[in-house]
Amino acid sequence: MYWEKDVETIDRKNLEELQLSRLKDTIAHAGNSYYYGKTYKEKGIQADLIKSLSDIQKIPFTTKDDLRENWPYGFISVNKDELVRMHSSSGTTGRATVIFHTANDLAVWTNLLARCMYMAGMRKSDVFQNMMTYGLFTGGLGFHYGAEKIGAMVIPAGAGNSKRQIQLMMDFATTVVHVIPSYALHLSTVFAELNLDPRKDTNVKIAFVGAEPHTEKMRRKIEDIYGYKAFNSYGLSEMNGPGVAFECPRQDGLHIWEDSFLVEIIDPETLQPVADGAEGELVMTTLQREGMPILRYRTKDLTRIIPEPCPCGRTHRRIERIKGRTDDMLILKGVNIFPMQIEKRLMDIPGVGTNFLIILDRQEFNDSMTVKVEVSKEYFSGDLKQLEMLRKKIIEELKSEILITPKVDLVGLDILPKGEGKAVRVIDNRKD
Ligand code: ADP
Ligand code: ZN
Repeated sequence: MYWEKDVETIDRKNLEELQLSRLKDTIAHAGNSYYYGKTYKEKGIQADLIKSLSDIQKIPFTTKDDLRENWPYGFISVNKDELVRMHSSSGTTGRATVIFHTANDLAVWTNLLARCMYMAGMRKSDVFQNMMTYGLFTGGLGFHYGAEKIGAMVIPAGAGNSKRQIQLMMDFATTVVHVIPSYALHLSTVFAELNLDPRKDTNVKIAFVGAEPHTEKMRRKIEDIYGYKAFNSYGLSEMNGPGVAFECPRQDGLHIWEDSFLVEIIDPETLQPVADGAEGELVMTTLQREGMPILRYRTKDLTRIIPEPCPCGRTHRRIERIKGRTDDMLILKGVNIFPMQIEKRLMDIPGVGTNFLIILDRQEFNDSMTVKVEVSKEYFSGDLKQLEMLRKKIIEELKSEILITPKVDLVGLDILPKGEGKAVRVIDNRKD
């Protein structure tokens, strides 16, 4: 049941002691980097500043802009010879940031991923098909090494090439997959085209889904289509990549590995800690990084800590499924909207397919939102009244969620653009 029982179920007091000692080491070690060396000097930060975990608040935040401005080597804290690998973020919100790892960093990361996958039920006897991009993106190699550490047989399929994915899955009786949720839905349309039913025609029993925000409804839809259990996997390249937080068999929040990351939730406006259990921006400090420690990294991801202990026995706290990023919040006519709110409503409406796209336009000073929604093909044949009724229903549902009346365009399945990587949910044509 546990990969590392002692660490996963460590009592909170011992965990906090471990965190404090690792935090002190990390802060001292980070001072070797150009960036933190300079910051410590400017702010008068001494290594003995940290007496308790809450003293972390005396350290300034680190942002993606700091990483970009000190690109590429401003954050490394070891001699360059010690580095053995680099990865980068996918660049969803601008220039990709680069992270460097020592051999030990990779070993720690691999172990965290083994812990996650084992927790969800993967074992040595499994056949693991990794449908993520290999290369700079962390989802490929990260999971790959984690799975090998467990001893599973890895199929390094990489992303895309849907027909081959399905073929591999059937030929080698894949039992576990790793997939981006929007791609899992797309792949289901390819199964349908081939007249295959993934529930009957494959042996997959576990999926790790992550790398992009998705709702509980989307997860349930994926589970329904495939007949497997889908476990939410959260991570970001600045904190290694996947392996930061992961669902246990209860599928109720993601355990965030606190022996490796110090977690804070802050109010993104005031930058102060929120009350226990309240929602805010996730901020993390690496506790085991050698190559490139990062202190108080502002992830821009919105979540909350679930204060109740998890019945599975793991003592590392859980975060709730990510609600969105502070920077993908749309403001339309003064109303704040997250793409996930749209997804949540759409997934509940029968007939709605797997993909949607939000388009924002501005005419004169009037902003408008069009939501393009894929719906099953039956709606386009015969009596179009059904299609119109569905369109009206979608408008109504969305209006009650976002308080604005969007335009809705219905299109057939697989019409909207679909890449291999993270789904693009919003196109903003408004020019300021
Ligand atoms: P980028 O920030 O350029 O997309 P990454 O590839 O490192 O770079 O992506 C990390 C981000 O992906 C996270 O900060 C988060 O916004 C999103 N993400 C990753 N996994 C999940 C998940 N399971 N649920 C929601 N969002 C996720
Ligand atoms: Zn649990």
